[in-house]
Amino acid sequence: MVEEESKNRKMDELGAGPVGKGQEAVVEEKSDHEIFKMESQVLDCNICLKPLKPPIFQCEVRHVLCSLCFEKLPQKCVICCKRTDYSRCFALEQFINAIRVPCSNTKYGCDEFITQDQKETHESGCTHAPCFCPEDGCSFIGSRGSLLEHFVTKHGRLQTNLQYKKSLGISMARDMQFTLLVGEDMSIFLLTNTLTDIGNALTLVCIRPRESEPRYSSKISAVPRGAGAAGRLVFLMDPLVASSSLQGGVQLGKFFLLVPPELVDESTDELTINIRIDELTSKSQQEAVA
Ligand SMILES: [Zn+2]
Ligand SMILES: [Zn+2]
Ligand SMILES: [Zn+2]
Ligand SMILES: [Zn+2]
Repeated sequence: MVEEESKNRKMDELGAGPVGKGQEAVVEEKSDHEIFKMESQVLDCNICLKPLKPPIFQCEVRHVLCSLCFEKLPQKCVICCKRTDYSRCFALEQFINAIRVPCSNTKYGCDEFITQDQKETHESGCTHAPCFCPEDGCSFIGSRGSLLEHFVTKHGRLQTNLQYKKSLGISMARDMQFTLLVGEDMSIFLLTNTLTDIGNALTLVCIRPRESEPRYSSKISAVPRGAGAAGRLVFLMDPLVASSSLQGGVQLGKFFLLVPPELVDESTDELTINIRIDELTSKSQQEAVA
């Protein structure tokens, strides 16, 4: 382990800001991969307090600032209040380029270490980003995979596996909040069911870490089981199934299938649904948007 104190001294020499309380950064040195901890605030810009990224500039007294602040503050350093010439601080740039910080989703199972520069890009696509359990009164937050396990083990939900491009018949109790469907690529879908005055409103949502581009289309129909409404059905085609982390719970989307009470099987109080989900190809995605 490298002594923290000596590192702080080293940072002072580099002209970085004071050590304060902040998020800890874990640093790996390339030669022998020594790992030590340090307060990440020492690597923030002295002016805007955001993490420094190359190019980094310094005044003659070695107060460091980011390139954006450098462009806005010519000639006079706001810390030492002196007119000054700025120069690039290559030593600190090199140091920052060597640092790997953990992904913010460490607690959800991501073990990636990335440079500050790559952090945003990685996290916007990190598969460990959290999803939220939509069950009443449950505050579980976890990666998509752990949410699926949670649905089954903690809430006793039955998981129905489905194959894409194939119609699947399912029965759903009239007052069931949702049915859990799992695609062949392990994508999780909820067929959500909202009771309204004029029938059941069904909508399909794909559980994904963030509100991202749709990847699936769906066709849902409700068919009568009894003879009463024989031949009648309601049908919904959704070319772009919405994705959600369920942070705001299960919500009825703008696009839903309204199933009139006549299609509910009176003897079992169930809806009979046919559902088909297709993966979008980039071509079908463009067509749907056009
Ligand atoms: Zn700045
Ligand atoms: Zn200065
Ligand atoms: Zn990650
Ligand atoms: Zn839960």
